[in-house]
Amino acid sequence: MISRTATTRLVADILDLLDRGWIAWANVLELLAYASGFKPVVRLVADAASREILADFCQRQQWPWRWSGFWLEPVFHTQLNDTFTRLVYGHAPLNCNRVLFVGHEAATRRAEELEGISDPTVARELAALYGYPECCAAAYAEVQGGKPWLEVFLRGSDPADRVRDWRGNKTAYLFPPHATLLPEYFPCSVDCEPTARLARAYEAVLQEYGLRRLLDIIREGLMRPLLLFGGCLYRFDGLESCEGWYHVMGSTERRCIDHPAMRRQPNIDMIEALHIGGGELTVRNGAGEWHESLIPARTQLLRFG
Ligand SMILES: [Zn+2]
Repeated sequence: MISRTATTRLVADILDLLDRGWIAWANVLELLAYASGFKPVVRLVADAASREILADFCQRQQWPWRWSGFWLEPVFHTQLNDTFTRLVYGHAPLNCNRVLFVGHEAATRRAEELEGISDPTVARELAALYGYPECCAAAYAEVQGGKPWLEVFLRGSDPADRVRDWRGNKTAYLFPPHATLLPEYFPCSVDCEPTARLARAYEAVLQEYGLRRLLDIIREGLMRPLLLFGGCLYRFDGLESCEGWYHVMGSTERRCIDHPAMRRQPNIDMIEALHIGGGELTVRNGAGEWHESLIPARTQLLRFG
C-alpha cells in the first residue's frame, strides 16, 4: 500500500516533468497508469536533453527501467505534426531519440524485441503489451504506410449530425494544449468502442490520483465541437441551436489540414453559423454562404457529449 504522501509526491514529480517540458501529456497518463498497476510496461521517448532527467525520475520512484538498445531516427514528418521514425542500432545518429522502458525486465525486453520486428502478428502482440486496442493496431499499419491518421480515424464514421462519446475524441489533440484521455497511439475510429473503454480506464486513473480538476479541464476541451470544412478543421467554444441552425459561440480555432494548393474553398477563418441537412453542410458568415456535401473525413461536424 502506497502512502498518501508518497502518492502526492509521485503526482507532483510527474506534473513537474510535464511543466518543464520533459514529457508530453500522454506520458503523464502512461506513468500514472504504470504506477497504479494498470500497465505492465511504459515507453518514454527521450531526447539528449531529457535523458538524465527521466532516468533520475525512475530512480527516485525505485521503478525498474532501462534504455532501448536502439535509437529512433526520424523518417518523415506529417502535415498533422507527427514524426515517424525507424529503429537504428549501433552508433547513435546525430540528434536522435532513445526509448526509456519502464517496467519489469521480462516485459521491457519483450517490448523492445517486438519493436524491432515489422510484422502484423507482432504488431498485435506489441499493442496488447502496451494496452492498445487490437482493432487500432491493425489500422495503425495504414498510418505507418503514410495515410493521414485523421482520415483513418474518421473515414468510416457517419457524417450525419450526432453526438459522440467525448472520451474517444483524439482530434482535439491537434489543438493546444494537445491533451486527450489517450496514450500515444492512433485510434482506428472516432467511434471505436475499445478506445472509449481505454479512455475510461485513464479517466479512473486520474481520479485515483486526485487529479479531478485536471480531468474537468480535459473533458471541457474534448467536448468542444469540431467542424471539418474546406480542408480545415475548426474548433468552437460551443454551438447554440436555433431554428435549425447552429450559431457559433465564443472563440474559434482553425487548423489547416490540406495543403493550401488543394483547398477548394475561400479562406474562411470566421464562421458565424452552420446548418446540416439533406446530406449537406452550409456555413455562413457576414461575407456569404458556402455549401459542401457531407463526406466522412472531409466535411463533417463532430459533436461530443
Ligand atoms: Zn480501434
